[in-house]
Amino acid sequence: MKKILLVDDSRAVRAFMRKVASSLGFETTEAENGEQALGIVRAMKRVDAVLLDWNMPVMDGLSFLKALRREPLETQPAVVMCTTENEMPRIVEAMSAGANEYIMKPFTEEIVREKLEGVGVL
Ligand SMILES: [Mg+2]
Repeated sequence: MKKILLVDDSRAVRAFMRKVASSLGFETTEAENGEQALGIVRAMKRVDAVLLDWNMPVMDGLSFLKALRREPLETQPAVVMCTTENEMPRIVEAMSAGANEYIMKPFTEEIVREKLEGVGVL
């Protein structure tokens, strides 16, 4: 079973991500900020994909992404950044920091499926 890490400070968004990811056949793990997500990545043997919020307290999505890409993992997960309209101008920065794709919030189940297919984890 493929593993996906769902990172968002909103419990409601995480619940939606979990519902979508589960229905797509992923085993899900959740984190509410980048620091927590980094701890999880280090503890897990393998993570196939990350749905990553941008704005979070403690450690935001971009900082997490940069830290993640420096981790000596056997396989790096595919990262899909979840952005709001305000964050769109910075999406180039996220892509050059190693994001594989991005989704505009609010997103639908169909969009999540398309993006995960696009990055090759489905
Ligand atoms: Mg947020």
